[in-house]
Amino acid sequence: MQPKRSVRGLPVYRPGKSIDEVKREYGLRHVIKMASNENPAGCSPYVVENLLPSSNSGQQLALYPDGEMRELRQTAARHLRVEPEQLIFGNGSDEIIQIIARCFLEPGMNTVMAQTTFPRYKTNVQIENVDVVEIPLTGGTHDLEAMAAAVNERTKIVWVCNPNNPTGTIVTHDALVQFIDRIPSSTLVVLDEAYAEYVADEHYPRTAELLANYPNVIALRTFSKIYGLAALRVGYGIAQPEIVSELNRVREPFNVNALAQRAAHLALRDQSFVQACHRANLAGLEQLTTAFTRLGLSFYPPHGNFVFVDTGHPASDVYTSLLQQGIIVRADDSWGCPTAIRVTVGNEAENAAFLNAFEQFLQERGQEKSR
Ligand SMILES: *Cc1c(COP(=O)(O)O)cnc(C)c1O
Repeated sequence: MQPKRSVRGLPVYRPGKSIDEVKREYGLRHVIKMASNENPAGCSPYVVENLLPSSNSGQQLALYPDGEMRELRQTAARHLRVEPEQLIFGNGSDEIIQIIARCFLEPGMNTVMAQTTFPRYKTNVQIENVDVVEIPLTGGTHDLEAMAAAVNERTKIVWVCNPNNPTGTIVTHDALVQFIDRIPSSTLVVLDEAYAEYVADEHYPRTAELLANYPNVIALRTFSKIYGLAALRVGYGIAQPEIVSELNRVREPFNVNALAQRAAHLALRDQSFVQACHRANLAGLEQLTTAFTRLGLSFYPPHGNFVFVDTGHPASDVYTSLLQQGIIVRADDSWGCPTAIRVTVGNEAENAAFLNAFEQFLQERGQEKSR
């Protein structure tokens, strides 16, 4: 059975190996996953304690969730200091990316993105049969100058991943303002801020200001990263109500399930958990980058909860050696850097275990070379 033309030959997303898979394949009892930028602290205990209603839950589960997500919408709007009508929730921000592509793109248009960035933009654009213009990163960072220059009258969407996955770099507020000033108001600017809550840099864009000044901007956030709720799948977009109401035309009516809505609402109410994770992550970044510097390895300045480091050896060798030692990291041919890995910040002990295993690999390689 042939699928439609735009879908033929599309890559199938390959998630990182799971902990159980690696335990089975390598006969290991203890495996650490530092591959998918998940929160090593899990989610807030306040969420776990309050997620399931104590009585009558069978009745509750028989009912469709609130398609308008009133409770979560109110809590999020208050937290973000935006109007409730400025929010759209999705089954992960992945779904918001899909909704945006489905809502705004048709053949004949094009869309501009960085060459090494989050892969879901490209796939969703290709499904809509729309041309993708990919602009190489410079120093691991979006080349906003070249991206703005690539925008033409056919460009419907530009995608800026900030911090960028997989490189971890950011573009600053001022650079982004200059960029958006050059983009026509009929072109949508998507700011994917999945890691915003981790960023400590004072030059990071002030999203609320951008949203207030530019009606063609949408920011994407998620509960999968610092909030530690990746399993439940909740993400959201923030934009002017006009954009949100267009997106709502293509959104499935019950796209975020009841438990996910409830968990996200509860998670927003425990900001002390978020602050603790933010601080722990900064310490973890320091732990990893200090070691990389000592080992003479180069890495991009990390602003999320992961580090993109050039190991100096084929990434697949590093990946396999670490797997054998019970540590899962990420390596991907499509990054255009065959010796780089992306490692998620773990807790202190996990970071130490990773560094230990990594140095073991480097030592073995060093000995092979000098033989
Ligand atoms: C993890 C991630 C997402 C997807 O998050 P979900 O809300 O889990 O779908 C989106 N964008 C970037 C850049 C990410 O790294």
